Amino acid sequence: MRIDILTLFPEMCEAVLNESIIGRAQKAGKVEIVCTDIRDFSGNKHNKVDDMPYGGGMGMIMAASPIYDCYKSLYGGGEPKPHLIYMSPQGETFNQKKAEQLSKLDRLVLLCGHYEGVDQRVIDEIVDEEISIGDFVLTGGELPALAVADAVCRMLPGVLSDDICFEEESHFSGLLEYPQYTRPAVWHEKAVPEVLLSGNHKEIDNWRQIMSIINTREKRPDMFGKYSLSEKEIKLLKKYNIPI
Ligand code: SAM
Repeated sequence: MRIDILTLFPEMCEAVLNESIIGRAQKAGKVEIVCTDIRDFSGNKHNKVDDMPYGGGMGMIMAASPIYDCYKSLYGGGEPKPHLIYMSPQGETFNQKKAEQLSKLDRLVLLCGHYEGVDQRVIDEIVDEEISIGDFVLTGGELPALAVADAVCRMLPGVLSDDICFEEESHFSGLLEYPQYTRPAVWHEKAVPEVLLSGNHKEIDNWRQIMSIINTREKRPDMFGKYSLSEKEIKLLKKYNIPI
């Protein structure tokens, strides 16, 4: 998969994406991430990419042409148009399901706005959808684009050591993950739940499934309300006398 990030701050994005798991995935050729500076397409000697809003008001608006030309430098037409997402507080809220959907694409372009936003005409012309990372406003689309790129990349085959890693994780199945522990077995007089030291994998799986359900019910009742327990899960809860 190739992900393009169109931004005024490519170094900010590269600094994050070249580190850790996503950095290693890029080196291993599992994903290609290219950050392109919209300012390179300003078309004027002062590298100006923004202007005052028509109709007055505060702040500056990113002009349509530099964004359009930046996009055109990556996609000349012909081959299938890459899916282009404008990171925007007005978009649909990002979630794990969306990350999974996007990870199936061959190519994805993330457009980062800045200042007071982007001229609507270029949004209308090239953007396929708007995605928000939550109901709050940030100074730019870089952090949201990094969040989306990270969540998408870790779902690509071979990026995590084992694909099971994300299948058992919070949000993948509609439940949150169970609590996790590592060595030492006792820390600050708190012991790891005994079952995890038992070596009994069936019991460990049961405990994890139950804890996922309890965790979700306590932390995210909204999520739990949308989840329908399977017969196996109901049996398990009954077996361990956990109220349903
Ligand atoms: N004036 C715009 C509005 O009210 O919708 C907000 C502009 S914001 C200050 C500047 C840029 O940050 C946006 O163009 C967008 O790319 C990005 N941004 C801010 N908050 C975001 C969020 N919650 N999710 C995704 N992108 C966001």
